Amino acid sequence: MEKITDKIAALPADANYFSLEFFPPKTGMGFSNLRDRLDRMARALRPLFVNVTWGAGGSTATKSLELAEICQRELNLTTCLHLTCTNMSRKMIDTALEDAKALGIRNILALRGDPPRAAEYQDANEDPENAIDEGFVWAIDLVKYIKQKYGDYFCIGVAVYPEGHADESHPLGQSLEHDLPYLVEKTLAGADFLMTQLFFDTDAYDKFERCLREHPSGAFKTMPIIPGLMPIQSYQMIKRTTKLSHARIPDDIMARLDTVKKDDEKVKNVGVDILCEIVERVKEIKSRTSGPRGFHFYTLNLEKAVSFIVERANLISSTPEEDAVADDGPLPNIPGLVVNGAPPPDYYQGTSRSRRQSAVGSEPRNRVIVSEHTLSNPEYEAPQADAGVKAGPINTRANTLAISEGEGVLGREATWDDFPNGRWGDARSPAYGEIDGYGPTLHVTQAQAISLWGHPKTLEDVNTLFVRHLKGELNAIPWSEEEVHEETGIITDQLVRLNQKGMWTVASQPAVNGVRSEDPTFGWGPHHGFIFQKAFVEFFLSAAAWRTLQEKLASPEVHGSVTYYATNAAGDFVSSDFSGGVSNSDTAEPTGESDEGYVAGENSTNAVTWEVSFRAWAEEAFGIFSEWAQVYGKGHESEKLLEAARADCWLVNIIHHDYMAKEALWDLLSK
Ligand SMILES: Cc1cc2nc3c(=O)[nH]c(=O)nc-3n(C[C@H](O)[C@H](O)[C@H](O)COP(=O)(O)OP(=O)(O)OC[C@H]3O[C@@H](n4cnc5c(N)ncnc54)[C@H](O)[C@@H]3O)c2cc1C
Repeated sequence: MEKITDKIAALPADANYFSLEFFPPKTGMGFSNLRDRLDRMARALRPLFVNVTWGAGGSTATKSLELAEICQRELNLTTCLHLTCTNMSRKMIDTALEDAKALGIRNILALRGDPPRAAEYQDANEDPENAIDEGFVWAIDLVKYIKQKYGDYFCIGVAVYPEGHADESHPLGQSLEHDLPYLVEKTLAGADFLMTQLFFDTDAYDKFERCLREHPSGAFKTMPIIPGLMPIQSYQMIKRTTKLSHARIPDDIMARLDTVKKDDEKVKNVGVDILCEIVERVKEIKSRTSGPRGFHFYTLNLEKAVSFIVERANLISSTPEEDAVADDGPLPNIPGLVVNGAPPPDYYQGTSRSRRQSAVGSEPRNRVIVSEHTLSNPEYEAPQADAGVKAGPINTRANTLAISEGEGVLGREATWDDFPNGRWGDARSPAYGEIDGYGPTLHVTQAQAISLWGHPKTLEDVNTLFVRHLKGELNAIPWSEEEVHEETGIITDQLVRLNQKGMWTVASQPAVNGVRSEDPTFGWGPHHGFIFQKAFVEFFLSAAAWRTLQEKLASPEVHGSVTYYATNAAGDFVSSDFSGGVSNSDTAEPTGESDEGYVAGENSTNAVTWEVSFRAWAEEAFGIFSEWAQVYGKGHESEKLLEAARADCWLVNIIHHDYMAKEALWDLLSK
């Protein structure tokens, strides 16, 4: 049984179930770590199904299918492949659907993706097979297409937005009421289930579900509606995500996060509490309609927070054997559940404890190791995959869950990247990279892009946009939809000078020499600490200017004080770092003007200087450059200017090691 709707229908009417969403990691190391993570989470958490995201316009096509294969084929997880339809060729859509079918995938989340690009963007010389298919404008076009080609072979899900979709498709703006007529059509065209955008406002969700269930069309009366929830991984990230998704954070939730915002550990703790409360509230709402209650979690490829949430909110399904053993009372020697150092509130403990203890008793020990295929008596035999696991009950589900939650040495190893820091993270982490796995995108519509950035005609026009962003006159540049960070304020003049010279800065950090961790601008982490950080800056600049700068960086008087990394759109790469990428060991992570969610645990340093991280980010950064150019349509003056700049320029990252010399980096670059 591989269709999601069949699986839901087979559950008891009062059951809870959940799904987990993953995106294809940016790097090979991230992929291999995600495979282990998925395996662990599948065993520990037992999601009903997993989702694999798709980069808008097909930007992650190969990687998405690779990840879907791992999920469906290798790990035997019921998999739902996301598929967008705009800005892609019909051939690409056909290939994705055929590949999904070949992999045994029976579930597709049919999406639009980014708004369709200007028609004139089409390249007249493009092989017609690879040309963008203008027949796909809305998600409904894909739903109809899949239905027409595959009948009922695929179970089709569609996206819904409890607070309304936010990309200005409707002239009066974001609202559920504006979406409804289209949503009815999209559902009647062949959707089997609905999956929502993330939300924190349970009143909005309540109104949304009621509105759908009572809709006169009857289209949603019995249809599974799966609410999307995002664990709170960090303060910065949740602010950014809600801004991008236009999901409101209710004041009381924001106030709870605001009180702990400088301490990442506490943010996570409070975030688990908040999400568990949301689940409880949504369960109440869902109990108005009979049938199993589902939840979808946007994991961002991380495991710790979501593991706590599904366990504490009692969403993990148990097997009949576990239920039987659960009644036998507590078993000794199993560590109590600890949420980031603190036991969970009592009201969650009863069910979690009995489930975990029961699972320990249900797993055989001292088994014969046999190959996966010859396993015939699980009481006495264990597959080879488990053979490498240390003695003791660590491969039981309960202990796998404890590992996913970060307990003990194994848990710390498994959740080492628990604090995601986007671009500034470690590229070995599955969570490394852009925030949602939907591929490099401007995060604004074409109309918004033009209203923000106009039609640049010269490189000086681009300089001006960057300068205006630094001065707070423009609230986004293509590489950052955030306003400039507070700490960047103290180097604004220096950055303005660089941008006026054509060094388009996308991230930066001032030097800091021992300020207290409570400092309102630079402080972070636990109290009574001190912050030391090196100045760094990352910028695009022309190839000719880079050649001159590179000579300067190689000169004897500068050489020892800086580390640099530089690459261009063609993938040429140069660096002064011959240490395998690890240096800068005594600094905190940078917080730049485009930094997404700077967070740091005790051991999370160095990441910015790792070559592999830089290269992975650069690919995305040049991708965003293309996205911006494409806003204007093929052959437009602005498109030609931006494409030429993209093809010519280098992305350069420079760190100055003398954190006591606050002006050293800026003097070096401005002279
Ligand atoms: C659960 C979920 C998963 C997602 N996964 C991905 C992913 O993997 N990759 C990715 O790139 N993006 C993903 N997205 C984002 C999604 O692609 C965007 O939100 C996109 O902007 C809209 O997609 P849609 O399928 O909802 O579009 P649609 O259903 O086409 O709706 C888009 C907007 O257009 C309006 N509209 C629809 N039809 C018409 C019409 N005929 N005339 C006028 N207006 C109309 C709708 O009311 C809505 O406002 C996901 C979103 C959700 C909620």
